[in-house]
Amino acid sequence: MAFLYIDSFVPGASELPGIVDDKNALLKRMKLVMLRISGEPVITSYGYLYPKPPKGLSRSRDQLKSNYKKIWEDVIIAFDWDTYGATANTRTYEVNIGEFFLKKEIPELDLQKVVMHEILHIFLDMPRSMHHPQINKIIKHSLGLKGEPNPFGTD
Ligand SMILES: [Zn+2]
Repeated sequence: MAFLYIDSFVPGASELPGIVDDKNALLKRMKLVMLRISGEPVITSYGYLYPKPPKGLSRSRDQLKSNYKKIWEDVIIAFDWDTYGATANTRTYEVNIGEFFLKKEIPELDLQKVVMHEILHIFLDMPRSMHHPQINKIIKHSLGLKGEPNPFGTD
């Protein structure tokens, strides 16, 4: 079950009031985005667990790794101050969301595209240099998300 590391999004005691609001708002939007991507979570004291792999994907059509559903069980999504945009580690299955996404004006749909973009880096079964056209195609056609598939030019 993919893990949304809630504590990483919860503001720390030493954080500035503006940041506290922004982090709380981002956490709220991350929960909505994950609900759209996977469905209802299992809520535990240390975070939210998402049993179902992302909806709308097909291993063969989308050229995903044969064990992508198994990989989903080890995906961790966390907020990270050392990340500016968003990153995916294809070895540890860790997705980091950085401070750029603390901007409240970022639409939920765009945040959903970014989270899926990073998850797809982990799932795709092809050389990294071929990932971006395929990720954009999946977001647009397989998932049917409207508008620009990569609104921030996420790497
Ligand atoms: Zn990318």
